[in-house]
Amino acid sequence: MADYQVIIIGAGPAGYVAAIRCAQLGMKVACVEKWIDDTNQAVLGGTCLNVGCIPSKVLLDSSYHYEFAKNHAAEHGIEYTEVSLNLTAMHQRKNKAIHTLTKGIADLFKKNKVTQITGQARLLPNKQVAITTAEGHQQVITTDNIIIATGSSPTCLPFINVDEKYVLDSTGALNLQRVYPRIGIIGAGAIGLELGSVWQRLGSQVTILEAQTDFLPQADKKIAATAKRTLTKQGLSFQFGAQVNQVDIDNGEVTVKYKMKDEDHVLIVDRLIIAVGRSPNTADLNLAEIGVKLTDGGFIEVDEHCQTSIGGIYAIGDVIGGAMLAHKAFEEGVFVAEHIAKQHPRLEKELMPWIIYTHPEIAWVGQTEETLKAQGIDYKVGQFPFAANGRAYAQGETTGLVRILADAETDRILGVHIFGATASELMAEAVTAMAFEASSEDLASIIHAHPTLSEGIHEAALAVTDKMIHA
Ligand code: FAD
Ligand code: NAD
Repeated sequence: MADYQVIIIGAGPAGYVAAIRCAQLGMKVACVEKWIDDTNQAVLGGTCLNVGCIPSKVLLDSSYHYEFAKNHAAEHGIEYTEVSLNLTAMHQRKNKAIHTLTKGIADLFKKNKVTQITGQARLLPNKQVAITTAEGHQQVITTDNIIIATGSSPTCLPFINVDEKYVLDSTGALNLQRVYPRIGIIGAGAIGLELGSVWQRLGSQVTILEAQTDFLPQADKKIAATAKRTLTKQGLSFQFGAQVNQVDIDNGEVTVKYKMKDEDHVLIVDRLIIAVGRSPNTADLNLAEIGVKLTDGGFIEVDEHCQTSIGGIYAIGDVIGGAMLAHKAFEEGVFVAEHIAKQHPRLEKELMPWIIYTHPEIAWVGQTEETLKAQGIDYKVGQFPFAANGRAYAQGETTGLVRILADAETDRILGVHIFGATASELMAEAVTAMAFEASSEDLASIIHAHPTLSEGIHEAALAVTDKMIHA
């Protein structure tokens, strides 16, 4: 008999959720994590809790409050004689949140009787897993099933050396101990926009160099245009179509050389952040020797059950690609656990909410006008500006809009796009409506509390059939 029914490699959102769900379903489970802190203790929670979703949102919230206190409190009749920044305290608050949440995962493992093993895991033939600790001790354990949830790491550009002093990845950018006057960022994706917003609010002049010519091409065009205008007004500076070709560090400055429309440009900054995507963690797992196939992009290839090319070996989360999002990783963790337990789980990845936590937030789910046109689907659009929403006035949050795309024939909602305060929370209603295959008329006929920002969704649904009241 094998030591375990399931061994999970990686304790990030994909791995820890899979471990808990497997244990809930009565399986004997071990979760192996290699990340350790300065005191040699295992660090659970992966990228998300330690260097991703949570620390970035802590800094986004703190920097928002700072910027509000400096520039907007007076509009509410709140006046200070002085607002000053204690960056050390801001980082301490961030670290406390990380510590509390990661400790929570350890408690959940205990509660659910998941065996936690600290060390670097490597696959061996016949469902054996070799685990090596930081001190070099090795053990081999056996199992019926393996779930690979090893996540991803920041992608580097081949000609740039990330020294984490002058040139940083997202982890370094979350931990700057000074507000540098000039920050450059390569990549105007989720990380570039979020961390760019943090440092811009705290006082840096932030310039973002983006290779693509459009801002957020995957988002609704109107929402993207409004967001770009708003973020630029806040102080972020964008250079689109920028092909960076050289980065030099000299005399405490970083010189970035790039081409735009065939012209040479130079940007000189104090610190440079690289935010050009993330790559799957597949090295050192012994995958080729075991016969686990990779896709052309280097992700682990899986079928519709998240099973790899080898029966009984599964892979979930960032390491299999697709949306590199914690909520996608969570759902795959539950899905694969229930599949191993011979249940018949469903996973609907088309209804994936995307949120970028700038202020206001950019959020979308489902189709855009471009994807609908490409598929030849006729659609109607309902649009409502927050400038016509009472609660938005009360909050001083009138920037932005809601757009709902519905099938021209059936009225079924096909996509919802929001740029506005708390769009991340408003998005839940849109996703729920779409999961239940609601029509715009369904949403329009539901009573929404007044005054709330969610009335923006109600009005946009009314607008699909020209029944909007407040604009
Ligand atoms: P990870 O979280 O990367 O976890 C993988 C774990 O496996 C790690 O702990 C690693 O140490 C361990 N591991 C790897 N190899 C081995 C091995 N051989 N043996 C043992 N252990 C191993 N997503 C969102 O949805 N919302 C957000 O707001 C958001 N913000 C982000 C902000 C930043 C700055 C970054 C970088 C990412 C953000 N993400 C966000 C993305 C999110 O963090 C990832 O999608 C998510 O963490 C993926 O989960 P995972 O479990 O697949 O991988
Ligand atoms: P991303 O894919 O979101 O954006 C990378 C950007 O860099 C793209 O716009 C791309 O065109 C640009 N780029 C790529 N190569 C370039 C080059 N050589 N020069 C200039 N620009 C270049 O990746 P990210 O922002 O690094 O984030 C990594 C992952 O983490 C993403 O998959 C994202 O989903 C996830 N994440 C999610 C959130 C969130 O959900 N709020 C927040 C942060 C990160």
